[in-house]
Amino acid sequence: MLITRFSLESTVAFGVIEPAEGEEFDPASATVTPMRGHPYGELDLVDLTLPLSTVRLLAPVLPAKIIGIGKNYAEHAEEMGSEPPSEPLAFLKPSTSVIGPREQIKIPEQSQRVDYEGELAVVIGRMCRHVAADDAADVILGYTCGNDVTARDLQERDNQWARAKGFDTFCPLGPWIQTEFDPAAARIETSVNGELRQQGSGADLIFSVGKLVEWVSSIMTLLPGDVILTGTPAGIGQLNDGDHVKVEIAGIGSLDNEVSLGD
Ligand code: MG
Repeated sequence: MLITRFSLESTVAFGVIEPAEGEEFDPASATVTPMRGHPYGELDLVDLTLPLSTVRLLAPVLPAKIIGIGKNYAEHAEEMGSEPPSEPLAFLKPSTSVIGPREQIKIPEQSQRVDYEGELAVVIGRMCRHVAADDAADVILGYTCGNDVTARDLQERDNQWARAKGFDTFCPLGPWIQTEFDPAAARIETSVNGELRQQGSGADLIFSVGKLVEWVSSIMTLLPGDVILTGTPAGIGQLNDGDHVKVEIAGIGSLDNEVSLGD
C-alpha cells in the first residue's frame, strides 16, 4: 500500500494511493482516497476518490524526530576516510528540516559546500521501546526516500552535527510511504541533473534496518511518524544553485528536489 500526505486547496490529509483499475501503477492515472486522521493504526478512509494528479504531494510524514545513521555503508565510510563503525553512529535532524517532493533545498549562506545523501528512510508506525531486531517489522509503517542534506564544511568544523545536518529544508522525504517493501532488497540511486551519482543496495547496510530499530529503540522511545535515515552509499557530492537532485528507490518511487540559494 502507498500512503501519501497531500494538500488540495486548503485541505491537508493523509490518503491511500491506488493504481487505476486493472492497470499497473502509474502516477498519471492513479487515484488517492483520503483518510480521516492519521495512518498509524486502523485506517478510516473517506468515501471519495481523487485523481492523484490533482493533489499536491507533501512530505508523507511529519516526524517528531529524525534519527540519522552515519557511515552505514563500508564504501562510504572509506570515502570519508573512516573505518566502518563497530556500533551505529547516530545523530538527530530537527523536524523543521523536513520538506516534501518538489520543494526547494535552500543552500544557507553559512556553508560553502552542501551535499546530497540519498538514503532509505524508515517510517515508524507505533510507539515502541526495546524492540528486538526480529520484531522490527511490527513497529515499521513503511519506507520512503530520504535525502540527508549535509553542510559538509560545517560537519568537518563542528564536533556535533546539529548545525551541519539541521538547516531548514535539509531533510527531503517522499514521494509517499510504501508499506510493502523488503529493505534488504532496496536499490537506492541518487542523480543530479540526470547524472547518476550514487548507487547503493540495502543488502550492503552494515547495520540492517532491524538492527537499527533495535539499537535506536534501546536508547529512545520511538513515536509514530519518527524517521530513521539508514545512511548513505558511496558517491556523495556537492549541490549547487539550480541543481535538480533525485533520490530513487525501485519499488518505492522517486523524490525530486530543486536546489536554490537560501534567504
Ligand atoms: Mg546520511
